[in-house]
Amino acid sequence: MFDKVLIANRGEIALRILRACKEMGISTVAVHSQVDRDLKHVRLADEAVCIGPNPSPQSYLNIPAIISAMEITDSVAVHPGYGFLAENADFAEQVQKSGFTFIGPDADVIRLMGDKVSAIAAMKKAGVPTVPGSDGPLPANAERCLEIGRKVGYPVIIKAAAGGGGRGMRVVHTEAALLNAISLTKSEAKAAFGDDTVYMEKFLQNPRHVEIQVMSDGQGNAIHLGDRDCSLQRRHQKVLEEAPAPGIPDKVRRDVQESCVQACIDIGYRGAGTFEFLYEDERFYFIEMNTRIQVEHPVSEMVTGVDLIKEQIRVCAGEKLSLKQEDIVIRGHSFECRINAEDPKTFFPSPGKVNNFHAPGGLGVRVDSHLYSGYSVPPNYDSMIAKVITHAESREAALARMRVALSELIVDGIKTNIPLQVDLVNDAAFAQGGVNIHYLEKKLGL
Ligand code: ADP
Repeated sequence: MFDKVLIANRGEIALRILRACKEMGISTVAVHSQVDRDLKHVRLADEAVCIGPNPSPQSYLNIPAIISAMEITDSVAVHPGYGFLAENADFAEQVQKSGFTFIGPDADVIRLMGDKVSAIAAMKKAGVPTVPGSDGPLPANAERCLEIGRKVGYPVIIKAAAGGGGRGMRVVHTEAALLNAISLTKSEAKAAFGDDTVYMEKFLQNPRHVEIQVMSDGQGNAIHLGDRDCSLQRRHQKVLEEAPAPGIPDKVRRDVQESCVQACIDIGYRGAGTFEFLYEDERFYFIEMNTRIQVEHPVSEMVTGVDLIKEQIRVCAGEKLSLKQEDIVIRGHSFECRINAEDPKTFFPSPGKVNNFHAPGGLGVRVDSHLYSGYSVPPNYDSMIAKVITHAESREAALARMRVALSELIVDGIKTNIPLQVDLVNDAAFAQGGVNIHYLEKKLGL
């Protein structure tokens, strides 16, 4: 096992990783920007190194500074968390080349999955269901593109192979608009990602977002840890997640889960990963794989009882997967509400000092947060300040528990989206289960 792990992240996920390392007897190094010196995990880590000024490109995205911090502290591995450098293949490669371990898959696997065209091709090969589409990049020939459009059937969506974060996509409703949309998406993709490769998919009208959690040791062993429904989104940002995804027929669920396990083995995947799907009319359609731990991983931990971060660290240290598929039993139901420092109506970020923080508690209530009374939320980073997670024997009971938990949560001094979350957990359609990805924006009148 690693002696010392450097945590290349901040906020709640850095604290989450720190806790896992401590439980495993691993020494910890926190790296932070100037404004982040008072973060909870920085105070709790064995060592801390300031890696630069507040803007992320100069600190949390500063690869030489992070590798230097590993050198001066004698760290042996780096955990990237999510966001920042977590899916940066060049970072993973430089970490390896410097003689350290990147807690995640190999750089070439990150690259394979980072290019959506190659990712879809790899998934098809492994038997993972994908969205009907162009099966590869769109050709330069206009007539061929029109033919593909006719075959796929309108509406279609043109997507950049290098796209991410909801950028580089355009929906096309009629053949007349196709060629113009392709050339616009191409030039945008070239400007944003330096790669103008685009492809076409059928545009699904009212899908849900359902994803499969996997863990794999890169030594031929892989398992899935069930699924999550993350359909409540605003501007492609997840707001409230749950596990398991409600109302999916057993066989449909099992088939897609098994295909993800097979894909992990096929691509030599190592670590924690997520296969994201759109789900409509009892069918799954792969859209992308995230080659890292995700924000919403706790709901899977609650229903499986598996510590995903510890397992991720173990397999990336070269250990064989300690769990078998039959060890994974889904128990009850779990929800996660993301608490953001933002205006609940305008969604404008609301950084500033938290005068008073009180976390809810009790059976089946978990709060992953770096907040404490007196902490100042800086304006420089993502606005998520806490995740409130509940678990109970049924979906209804877990939702009731979330209503109580949110009623106890106090974050004084800044604006938060707690009122929005309270509204959502009291929403009748959401309580039924299975709302689609447009539900939240429609409810908000967007
Ligand atoms: P990104 O990497 O930018 O997040 P994704 O491929 O994951 O891009 O797609 C982001 C979102 O765009 C999806 O969650 C979904 O809301 C929408 N989307 C993507 N592809 C389709 C599709 N074929 N049909 C309908 N919606 C889609």
